[in-house]
Amino acid sequence: MGKSDSGDNNDHNGDSNIIRVCEKGMYVDVWGGKLWIDVLSATLEYGLAPMSWTDYLYLSVGGTLSNAGISGQTFNHGPQITNVYELDVVTGKGELVTCSEDRNSELFHSVLGGLGQFGIITRARIALEPAPHRVCVRWIRVLYSNFARFCKDQEYLISLHGKAARERFDYVEGFVIVDEGLINNWRSSFFAASNPVKITSLNADGGVLYCLEITKNYDQGNADSVDEEIQALLKKLNFIPTSVFTTDLPYVDFLDRVHKAELKLKSKGLWDVPHPWLNLFVPKSRIEDFDKGVFKGILGNKTSGPILIYPMNKNKWDHRSSVVTPEEDVFYLVAFLRSALDTETLEYLTNQNRQILRFCHDSEIKVKQYLPHYTTQQEWMDHFGDKWTQFNARKMQFDPRRILGTGQQIFQFHPSLTPNKDDM
Ligand SMILES: Cc1cc2nc3c(=O)[nH]c(=O)nc-3n(C[C@H](O)[C@H](O)[C@H](O)COP(=O)(O)OP(=O)(O)OC[C@H]3O[C@@H](n4cnc5c(N)ncnc54)[C@H](O)[C@@H]3O)c2cc1C
Repeated sequence: MGKSDSGDNNDHNGDSNIIRVCEKGMYVDVWGGKLWIDVLSATLEYGLAPMSWTDYLYLSVGGTLSNAGISGQTFNHGPQITNVYELDVVTGKGELVTCSEDRNSELFHSVLGGLGQFGIITRARIALEPAPHRVCVRWIRVLYSNFARFCKDQEYLISLHGKAARERFDYVEGFVIVDEGLINNWRSSFFAASNPVKITSLNADGGVLYCLEITKNYDQGNADSVDEEIQALLKKLNFIPTSVFTTDLPYVDFLDRVHKAELKLKSKGLWDVPHPWLNLFVPKSRIEDFDKGVFKGILGNKTSGPILIYPMNKNKWDHRSSVVTPEEDVFYLVAFLRSALDTETLEYLTNQNRQILRFCHDSEIKVKQYLPHYTTQQEWMDHFGDKWTQFNARKMQFDPRRILGTGQQIFQFHPSLTPNKDDM
């Protein structure tokens, strides 16, 4: 872990090991290549922590800010790109620029969610909140056999954003269960091997179950009052009454939960395998059509990995950033996080991803890809839609020779394109 210190220090001397925590300003300055797990360790030393996370913390700050950085806290705090005060960026023109809402704001908004197209983030100033030293997490999973009820409850829970902490959960996610093997194995410490979940015994609607996953942070000294708060919130939900699974764990262990799964999978040689992932933002108005066509249709009963589903509030996203989301106040992330252990499965899952995208296109479900993959500029133009003209203009402004992020295949490197004299 890097050094950290307190005080409002603006000395960005390029030492990539330094993580500077400013207690007074409630922010941390970190090098773009730092992993979120290191940011967490450093800020916790001051009883502080970032507010918005990804499910997995062994990702770099620059990498997630180039996409959005989402998890179960997004409904309340917005994605990670909503929680950044300032950046240092080396643009495609080779200039080192400090930018924020008020200073070089066009570059600031371009780079956030900008897929690495406009510059390299070398430093980020990230907002912090108090993280009590003895904080624990009550992690709860409840099951639904009815999709409409599941969505109604998820949407209700995210509508509580901005309420006092005792009146809402801290994290809201969920996942789709089409095969029992998965629910009883994946992150399996939750559902006891002696008491496995049986889809058939729960009257699953169309053979599919939905699991709502919620958490509440609490101080070890306040375990009683958290019980009451949780009961009051659960009472408003419509899940299968016998399906409440609960576990308590330290705050850091919860945030770092996927790393445990990683270590387990690594030990079995199941981590470094192809992952034909597909992440979609689906507008709320069409999520039931998506369920019928995809979860109860195209998927069949073997998924090869977790399928996450949780809603987010659009008003927590800054429309000036480069990321694109559906045009509705609430939209869902549906993440097909699947692994292929052999080439046959890889082909099968890749084909299924194509089928899902085709189904959305044919049914006019206006999904947007998160962590997008396209191979032609026309597809990218369709992806950005109304934002394309601005995205293209920003590229011309900050990386006129198109030297950055060529792997995304959005723009082609153009050796003969020399920067405009005015751009220098
Ligand atoms: C196991 C796993 C779990 C994940 N879970 C989540 C999740 O819960 N939520 C979520 O939102 N995302 C998640 N992601 C996706 C993740 O946000 C992106 O893959 C992100 O790019 C990862 O950062 P990285 O450090 O691996 O970046 P890299 O893979 O190194 O880079 C990816 C992209 O980011 C750009 N980039 C990287 N660093 C910088 C920088 N300093 N400045 C500018 N551009 C840069 C690169 O140009 C490239 O386009 C997950 C990914 C993995 C592998």
